[in-house]
Amino acid sequence: MASRQAHTRKRQIMAEISKLGFCLPGSLVARTTRCSTPSCHCQSDPERRHGPYPSWIRRVGDKTTTRTLSAAQAERYGPWFENARRLRQLVDELEALSAQVMAEVEGWEEPRPAQH
Ligand SMILES: [Zn+2]
Repeated sequence: MASRQAHTRKRQIMAEISKLGFCLPGSLVARTTRCSTPSCHCQSDPERRHGPYPSWIRRVGDKTTTRTLSAAQAERYGPWFENARRLRQLVDELEALSAQVMAEVEGWEEPRPAQH
């Protein structure tokens, strides 16, 4: 990629990042649960657990934390997970682009990713 194109793409990436908004770590998944009533069907039958409920799962330090969300919360914060996913894509692209520019400036041959 020519350097001028790389700089243009870098500006586009930065512009998109600046418009992203809040980005939540972890993921939003649908999870079924068991309640604390010993006689409830959820205790004995895996097919009859409660839910699924939207749940936010993330790592905090070396622990995995789960928080169950209401449908309204899942709807409200869903886009924040999308933002985080897009941010990671853009950061990955910016890193790859930077490696390309560095290789071009230094006259290095860039290793190509393996073909699948
Ligand atoms: Zn139950």
